[in-house]
Amino acid sequence: MDLKDLYRDVIVDHNRNPRNFGKLEAADSHAEGHNPLCGDRLTLYVNFDGDRIREAKFEGSGCAISVASASLLTEAVKGKSREEVRRLFDQIHALLTQHDADVDLAGLGKLAALSGVREFPARVKCASLCWHTLNAALSNATQPVSTE
Ligand code: ZN
Repeated sequence: MDLKDLYRDVIVDHNRNPRNFGKLEAADSHAEGHNPLCGDRLTLYVNFDGDRIREAKFEGSGCAISVASASLLTEAVKGKSREEVRRLFDQIHALLTQHDADVDLAGLGKLAALSGVREFPARVKCASLCWHTLNAALSNATQPVSTE
């Protein structure tokens, strides 16, 4: 099995069985995101423990990549501080948009599967929607996020 198959399997798995899917009751913060290009919609909920994310959940509907990306995100950001999340966001953004991105794939764990998305520029916004939405939730933005 080569790396591409492995990445595809991660996306398929997280689309079929999204982790942390559902509403987080009494969330400390939440934000809504919409990608009109594809029709993806999601709401992201976070609970904090001081500066760190204690819990992250999401609900909504969208294409396989948007759901898998949100599922991977909720697993990846648990326990991370706002600063760590900001750095992770920068890495994911580079991974999705730059072919020669200087990103430590091994350090990203399962999130490295998102690198396959850059072969499909039209789907980059599907994968990045949840990350923009998380940013909004972290900054307590009141406006829904749109990728347009
Ligand atoms: Zn999509």
